[in-house]
Amino acid sequence: MTSSFWSPVVGTLKPYVPGEQPRVANLVKLNTNENPYPPSPWVLKTLEAALRTGLERYPDPESTELRRTIAAHHGLQLGEVFVGNGSDEVLAHAFQAFFQQGLPLLMPDITYSFYAVYCGLYGIPAKTVPLREGLRLQVADLQEPSAEAVAGVVVANPNAPTGIGLPLSDIEQLLRQHPNRVVLVDEAYVDFGGQSAVPLIEHYPNLLVVHTLSKSRSLAGLRVGVAMGQRHLVEALERIKNSFNSYPLDKLAQVGAQAAYEDQAYFDRCRQAVIHSREGLSLQLEDLGFEVLPSQTNFIFARHPQRDAAALAAGLRERAVLVRHFRLPRIEQFLRISVGTPDQCQALVDAVRELLALPV
Ligand SMILES: *Cc1c(COP(=O)(O)O)cnc(C)c1O
Repeated sequence: MTSSFWSPVVGTLKPYVPGEQPRVANLVKLNTNENPYPPSPWVLKTLEAALRTGLERYPDPESTELRRTIAAHHGLQLGEVFVGNGSDEVLAHAFQAFFQQGLPLLMPDITYSFYAVYCGLYGIPAKTVPLREGLRLQVADLQEPSAEAVAGVVVANPNAPTGIGLPLSDIEQLLRQHPNRVVLVDEAYVDFGGQSAVPLIEHYPNLLVVHTLSKSRSLAGLRVGVAMGQRHLVEALERIKNSFNSYPLDKLAQVGAQAAYEDQAYFDRCRQAVIHSREGLSLQLEDLGFEVLPSQTNFIFARHPQRDAAALAAGLRERAVLVRHFRLPRIEQFLRISVGTPDQCQALVDAVRELLALPV
């Protein structure tokens, strides 16, 4: 569809397509990398209490208490922490704040597909660099003859949808390659075994690290994301945010997110459970003939040498198991499978085994 009422950019956009959120119950939902475990009981208790007072007032526009909690958690100053309505919003603000330079933004060819969408929205040309053998990133490839020839660099670490993580030495190399440009490191999955770049913030004025509470803290429904960097970067994000929406985090999101950081024991239990299930699931899929990329996330990226990925995804759906399949060059034979509870992982393996028993 198109319309003469639209601003010209609207017709050019290629919006992100989120994974299906089915309305029917009893599906084993392994398609959007949510946490299979509910939020901490402390989060629920805090939310219930918060419901009873103050919803008639605007929330704190600066989310000060939440930011203070996050800063203390990471050993940062309050002014080094920015929060937004999901990390997608934080990423969007960062693209506008740092990458609208009239120059191409460097990113791997296979990564979180929202990055290209923001480029379209903000008129930023994307320059993609192919991942190497085994869908691995060689950071030296994210380089231009002149460091000023690009608007910046964005990487997800660990990467999505491959699940593969980079060591911190690689992130440092990237930061040194682009001393005058922002290097945005999206650590949506870092709590499942990756190495966080947050300790590098004090040494690198060009580093912006983005986190989300949607995956490791079981709060995809609350919509809270975080950016961390030196004050001058956070100030830019605040200027964008305060020119867009004074209150991106409602009161419940602020107190619920803060409570999630306060229950460290629950957080550690959940992520350890996911990591444990991931390792078991990887081995089971390998036993069934899959090639499984080494994951440091809460999902597995795998392909079967004899079976078409789209057909497998469709067969799984008929068996009430949802996984994600991307019809994209180079990865159209892979499935991205979120790590569920042990029972959900077993249901997936049983359904896969059934499908593999059928004739090709
Ligand atoms: C899930 C995800 C996000 C978005 O997280 P929200 O905080 O829910 O918006 C950002 N980046 C990557 C790589 C993700 O996988």
